Formats: sequence, C-alpha cells, structure tokens
Amino acid sequence: MNVLVINSGSSSIKYQLLDMANGSVLATGLVERIGEGTGRIKHKNAPDSAHETESVRELPIPDHKTGMQLAAELLTEPGKGVVKDTSDIDAVGHRIVHGGEYFSEPALVDDSVVEKIREVSPLAPLHNPGHIVGIEESRKLFPGIPQVVVFDTAFHQTMPSEAYIYALPYEYYSELKVRRYGFHGTSHRFVAKETAKLLGKPLSECNIITLHLGNGCSMAAVRGGKCVDTSMGLTPLAGLMMGTRCGDIDPAILAYLASQKGLSIQDMDQVMNKQSGLKGVCGSNDMRDVHAMREKGDERAQLAFDMFCYRIKHYIGAYYAVLGRVDALAFTAGIGENDEHVRAKCCEGLEPLGIAIDTAVNLKRAKGARDLSQSGGRVKVFVVPTNEELEIATQVMDVIKAG
Ligand code: ADP
Repeated sequence: MNVLVINSGSSSIKYQLLDMANGSVLATGLVERIGEGTGRIKHKNAPDSAHETESVRELPIPDHKTGMQLAAELLTEPGKGVVKDTSDIDAVGHRIVHGGEYFSEPALVDDSVVEKIREVSPLAPLHNPGHIVGIEESRKLFPGIPQVVVFDTAFHQTMPSEAYIYALPYEYYSELKVRRYGFHGTSHRFVAKETAKLLGKPLSECNIITLHLGNGCSMAAVRGGKCVDTSMGLTPLAGLMMGTRCGDIDPAILAYLASQKGLSIQDMDQVMNKQSGLKGVCGSNDMRDVHAMREKGDERAQLAFDMFCYRIKHYIGAYYAVLGRVDALAFTAGIGENDEHVRAKCCEGLEPLGIAIDTAVNLKRAKGARDLSQSGGRVKVFVVPTNEELEIATQVMDVIKAG
C-alpha cells in the first residue's frame, strides 16, 4: 500500500509518499509561498528510483488546490513520477497539530471530523485552518481514497487531570477548554515504541522519558506506552527553552512588561514565540551557531547553552519523580540526535539516579538508533531518530485495517 502523508500549513504543503510494504520513502516534496507572487515546489524521488531525483520549480501557486495538484502531477508524471497515476495512492494521512479533547486516536475523515478540527481551530489558529484546506483539497483530488487525520495532541490525551488542568478558575477549562494538551505527540509515540524495541521489552512494561529537541522542544513522561505528562501546554510555547520560544516563564512578566514597555498582549506573544529562547539570549536560534559562538568565547552563547540544558535537566528530574522508575531516556530530533554537547550536559551529575552516558560513544557521530549509556547504568540513554511521517503512515494503515 502506498500512503501519501500531507502536512498542510497556512502557506506551505509538505508531502511524502511511502510504500508501506516495507516503510520505504518513494518521494518527498515541499510546496512553499502559496498565495505569494512566486511559489516554489521542490520534489525529490527516492535515490534508488530510476527517475530524476530532484526538481525545483518556481511559478505562481495561488492556492492550496494548485499546490496539491502540482504535487499530484509530479508524483504521477509519465516517465518520471514514482507512481503511474493517483489510483496507485491507496490512502492519505494528514498531520494535524490540534485535535483538542476530541481526538485521542487518529480518525477517518468525514464531514463531522472536519467540523471538530474547525471547532478547535481557535486553539491553533496558525495551523488548523491550513490543515482543513489541505484535507478538503485532498478529498477533491483523491476521491474515494481513504483520508485519515493524525493529531500532534492525541498521544498526550492519556495524561491524568492533575497533569493537564491549570490552577486557574475551573470555568476556563470547562467553558473554554484551557488546559495542557502537549504537542509533538506523533514523535513521542514513535520514539517510545522504538525505545521499547531497544529495551527488548513490551512497551506496556517500559517507563520512558522522551526528549524531542529540535527547533521546537518538548519532553514526555511515558508509562507503559501512555503519556502521563508532557512539557508543552495549551500551545507549543510552554516547557523547555527552544530556538525562538521562551518555554516556561513567570506569567506575571506579561503584566509587568505591559506596564513598563507598553507592549500589547499580541506584541508579547510575538516576542515569546519568535524572539526568545536561544535567539533571545544570544542572537541565534540554531544550536550549531550557539556552539560556534561559545567556542569563540561568547559569554551569552555559553549562557544560552547552559540555560537550555539546565531546563532539560529540570524536566528529567520532574519526570523521574512522576514515573518513579525510569527504564530509558530517549533523545530525538535535530539537537537530540546530533548534539553530543547537549546530551552530555543535561545528563551531567545524574549518576546517582542511574543515568550515565559513555563519553566516547556519545561523541561518535552516527546515524540510526544507538545506546549511549555506560555499562551497568540502571537507566539506558538512547538516541532514537524520529520519523513522524512513517508513524503517521503506520497509524493510517492501522485505521484502515480496523475498518
Ligand atoms: P524542527 O523542529 O524544525 O523539525 P529539527 O528537528 O530539524 O527542527 O532541529 C533543528 C535544530 O537541530 C537546530 O537547532 C539545529 O541547530 C540542530 N541541529 C541539526 N543538526 C545538528 C548537528 N549536526 N549538530 C547540532 N545541532 C544540530
């Protein structure tokens, strides 16, 4: 079965076609600048494909419909496309950022599912509207092909209420659904499953702390395969320090800055999402730049790095206490998979908790899942590359098999 995974944003569409007989990627693509003067589509066939491997086209892409049609044309282009025609696409999986409290599992798309995604759009105004356009265009373009939605929030729906209710007037939850939802759920779920394989135990018997450290960063405490706590909140701004996002701060800072600097709530939202985190402290949101700067003696870059790792260590401690027993830490995403300095620093001094990294193994650059723990350490420390598209396609297959 071929599953097309679509991540439709407000002005872009990312897609990947997977052959689920073996989980291999047939083609990937990115449509950008939809609705702007000149759009751009970058399409890549799998390297082992007999066809041209990469093409970039710049042309007006006025709307998502055109973007999606272009993607379908490139996938099925005679002599070049990886499939003959759209009937070779057996199912479409849509990545959806916010499912509110409606979705703890993926769902087969129908009108009522789209309506619920629309209803929770105020909780993810930058994402859900773009997803809905993607779903609607995809239903028109691939009629009769099952469409499945997979939510970033779904994995975290198993959290107990003491972990997800905020200490605000209860009506804010009951009337407006203000609560912790958590994000990166598809990644945390995939990484937890892969970690259980590495531990050689059923997932239902494993307690795992997953660390998704990319531009956006979040952690989850996973007991027996179920999320019991996670660091992001109502929105993906909460928790860890990130590339440009501040993570947890004293909420009274907003009122203070409003009075001192005359900043509006919208201004502050922009500052906390786009001008904070690593970028706010040292000027760059890219961890590779932060390392280059601190190697040259830049004190702010050193501070940003120290703060980033310190916050992660805080959450390791918190989730260790939440879980009681931890079998493994699993590092994933751009920083988690590639950055030995971050991994070493946030595990430093945790030997009394049974967490100890083998320095030589940690330093070795490698692809693929690997064990970094010192022999004899009670808690395994793994790098587990995430694969959200494969997880989405797997969930699509599960929904279809379940009928
Ligand atoms: P996104 O959340 O946008 O998917 P990624 O998972 O790609 O982000 O992670 C981006 C982050 O990963 C950036 O801070 C980047 O510096 C970092 N990163 C990527 N490759 C490396 C590397 N080889 N060494 C250190 N950091 C890296």
